[in-house]
Amino acid sequence: MGRPFTVTLEGEHIFVCQACQTQYTLLQYFLPHESFYNPVTMVGYQVLSEVVNTFTDGKIIELKISDAVSLPCMEIFCVGCAALLGLKIESVPDIIKHKIKEGKYIFIT
Ligand SMILES: [Zn+2]
Repeated sequence: MGRPFTVTLEGEHIFVCQACQTQYTLLQYFLPHESFYNPVTMVGYQVLSEVVNTFTDGKIIELKISDAVSLPCMEIFCVGCAALLGLKIESVPDIIKHKIKEGKYIFIT
């Protein structure tokens, strides 16, 4: 496959892959008003508008965010080491369209 092409970010708060230090987003791309928390599973989900240096495997998975709602997503991986970084939202059920938008990225905290 050859050497991976990577984008270099500029800014003060750059987030990097914990395994290989490849840059993937900036603090300014976090969307706190779209982030959410599932009190049943006690899992938090940070929503981001932009990430770089990632790829997907094309497989759709369902992220269950409550008893009634699940989000079709694709896993996103680091181009440097293929570590799982988060999810890309592929579509959003009408019931939560006011809160979450398609094409954004989710990191589980
Ligand atoms: Zn990595």
